Amino acid sequence: MYLIMVNAKNKNLLPRPPIVVVMGHIDHGKTTLLSYIRKTKMPKEPGEITQSIGAYEIIQPSTSSGQARKITFIDTPGHEVFSKIRKRGAQAADLGILVVAADEGVKIQTREAIKILQESKTPFIVAINKIDKPNADIERVKQELAQADVLLEGFGGNISWQAISAKTGEKIDELLDLILLAADIENLTYDSQAKASGVIIESKMDSSRGLTIAAIVRDGILRIGDEIITPSAVGKIKILENFLGKKVDYLEPSSPALILGFGSLPQVGEEFWHPNSAPLPAASAIRRPDNSERIPSNTGKRPEDSRVNFILKADVSGSLEALSGIIKTFPNVKIINESVGDITDGDVKLAFTTNAIVIGFKSRINRAAENLAKSSKVKIITSEIIYELLKNLETKFKDLQAPAIKGNLEILAVFGKKNSRQIVGGRVLIGVFKNNLNINIQREERTIGKGKIVNVQKEKRDVVQIKEGEECGVLLESDTMVNVGDQLIFL
Ligand code: GDP
Repeated sequence: MYLIMVNAKNKNLLPRPPIVVVMGHIDHGKTTLLSYIRKTKMPKEPGEITQSIGAYEIIQPSTSSGQARKITFIDTPGHEVFSKIRKRGAQAADLGILVVAADEGVKIQTREAIKILQESKTPFIVAINKIDKPNADIERVKQELAQADVLLEGFGGNISWQAISAKTGEKIDELLDLILLAADIENLTYDSQAKASGVIIESKMDSSRGLTIAAIVRDGILRIGDEIITPSAVGKIKILENFLGKKVDYLEPSSPALILGFGSLPQVGEEFWHPNSAPLPAASAIRRPDNSERIPSNTGKRPEDSRVNFILKADVSGSLEALSGIIKTFPNVKIINESVGDITDGDVKLAFTTNAIVIGFKSRINRAAENLAKSSKVKIITSEIIYELLKNLETKFKDLQAPAIKGNLEILAVFGKKNSRQIVGGRVLIGVFKNNLNINIQREERTIGKGKIVNVQKEKRDVVQIKEGEECGVLLESDTMVNVGDQLIFL
């Protein structure tokens, strides 16, 4: 049984194990410490396969509560991965262990590690290692740490520390208990109802398995079949394995995960998330309307066939599959065609005849396609970055949030204006146009203002209504000045 406490403020918040990174100078014992912990604390299951990725989980019997608790270790000693992750603004580890050899003291990379931990505001514990060595000098290490701005408990500060021997295993249990104590102080939680998000820690092309991605889940529950995106890649989880290479259906925070199903390699240190949730601030603007919301016609279509058609292109089949998965999460969309490769004039022709938008993910647009798209006013949205693509789509889908339209009138002439009143001429494209209607003014598919129809004339005589296809004169009241080509959308 693991310790599960329900947070009083949000009942969806559950405690999660700490994710720990080990840092310090070369040869001070990081690898030895990690392998000692792995060897002695990793859960053993029958038919166990060996650890397949650079992170592992252990179970530590807690001395205070008597309950076993998990700790996740990022098993890539050295500062490179940690720095990469930090550079991208993500947080992989909750806690750090700064390993300092008792016989050598603070060295260049110890200082580097201190800087990284302090700058990233990662709480850390100091492990003074190699205390089995005859020339170990714990007091000297404490002094040198104080000079490097790391004040240990009992030495003028409040940073926890433990003298250990990674070689003999002496006091390593005490070190792990200190980690659990620090985790309690940090009050690490996750939202059990949230879609999974986390950080990519490895990204490689495996000759037999294809693109294999290692990640650590930091929030939500990661499930097989989930779509996930990073700023540079998209994927759908086809195979999910835990850190032992065992196939699983889901993983909870703070578990390491091996993911198969990415279309292209994401970058180490990138965050991943589900397309419907959005940890990045800009991505949170991407809102999917409910299926109940309907699309107004931008293209002269009637509301009843208010659907957005798409033609999808991507560089490789994995990306295409993922892109298609994401597009399908929007309501009222129809994928007319999807294929791998450059965007060609054939795609543009198809888009023109089916009134579709072409979406390209990591696909180039060939010259003929570009020219044809310009002349036929076919929209092409492309990007190398899925996140950017989603942002562009968001602009496209903004109109989804508007209510369904009853009809529209295209402005053919603007005759004059007086204060907020404008006299215009137009043709009804859809529906029946009536006096006293409230309208939205649309320009290039975007709503730019609101107004009200105060008079309608046909052949210079006041009329009650104008039918589809007929032309009329309109007295419009609005603070927005209309232009020829704008549409009045009646709601
Ligand atoms: P890393 O570069 O920080 O990962 O250091 P390693 O774990 O590779 O250790 C460097 C050397 O120090 C190896 O020869 C280890 O066997 C040795 N070593 C690590 N921890 C201890 C320890 O606690 N006591 C002793 N005597 N040797 C240790």
